[in-house]
Amino acid sequence: MVRRVRPRRSPDTHEVIEAAATRVTFLGHSSVVIDIDGQRIITDPILRPRVGPLRRTTTIPHGELWSDTDAVLISHSHWDHLDIGSLRLIGPETTLVVPRGLATHLLARGFRRIVELLPGEHHGVGRVRVQATHAEHRGFGPPVGGTERSVGFLIEGTTGIYFAGDTAFFDGMSELDIGLDLALMPVWGWGPMVRSSEHLDPLMAARAIAVIRPRWAVPIHWGSLHPVGLRRLRPSTRVDPPHQFAQLVRRYAPQTRVRVLGIGSRLDLRPGVPASAGGAAREP
Ligand SMILES: [Zn+2]
Ligand SMILES: [Zn+2]
Repeated sequence: MVRRVRPRRSPDTHEVIEAAATRVTFLGHSSVVIDIDGQRIITDPILRPRVGPLRRTTTIPHGELWSDTDAVLISHSHWDHLDIGSLRLIGPETTLVVPRGLATHLLARGFRRIVELLPGEHHGVGRVRVQATHAEHRGFGPPVGGTERSVGFLIEGTTGIYFAGDTAFFDGMSELDIGLDLALMPVWGWGPMVRSSEHLDPLMAARAIAVIRPRWAVPIHWGSLHPVGLRRLRPSTRVDPPHQFAQLVRRYAPQTRVRVLGIGSRLDLRPGVPASAGGAAREP
């Protein structure tokens, strides 16, 4: 199948892994641009230097990287995933795909094209199927308050991608072993430590990859956001987690290849055969 990739100016830093079919561009933290089957989809966009109590410590992504967006996927309402100012930069007419319960908050702020999904429900973005998945993570708290859900998303077109949102490890991850091309996997938090009941650290993220068995994995949710006032604490936590994850995946999930992307860097991939059964995962 031939798919259309929109012409874009290439960032200076990029790596073409395979002949282009789907283009994935990392904007920092959980913000990822996915150009797939003629659609541009962005996950959890944070495009401003500060959101609530968090300060961005890396480059603000150039607008050309996220212009002309067709749909925004919001995993949950925490500061580092839902930023109204960033959504306004993208445009109030863009379709927002959100967990069930979040529409009221967004309607009150002027957004009109909102699709609410429960885990298992799906929505079409052009020919791309977007399905909400379970996430083991409490979505309530500032800035929204309330008890909104957290979800992840399966993005399925010519290629299949899993965006985990925020989640801890959960048993149902084995249901995501469906021959995915790529998993966008959180490997850290936004401070000096992560809570294992709510998030994945590099080891648990690698265990998740061993269960899901995508062809490729890209670590997200690291390095770009830190609480104001904590910038000088343990700077290694802003740098090391994705590389620790890559090492652990080589050990526990050798069927999957990891690519650590910097801000504005991209991965081009095309559909391929599912990860082989060879190189079976071992328990840590
Ligand atoms: Zn969260
Ligand atoms: Zn988060």
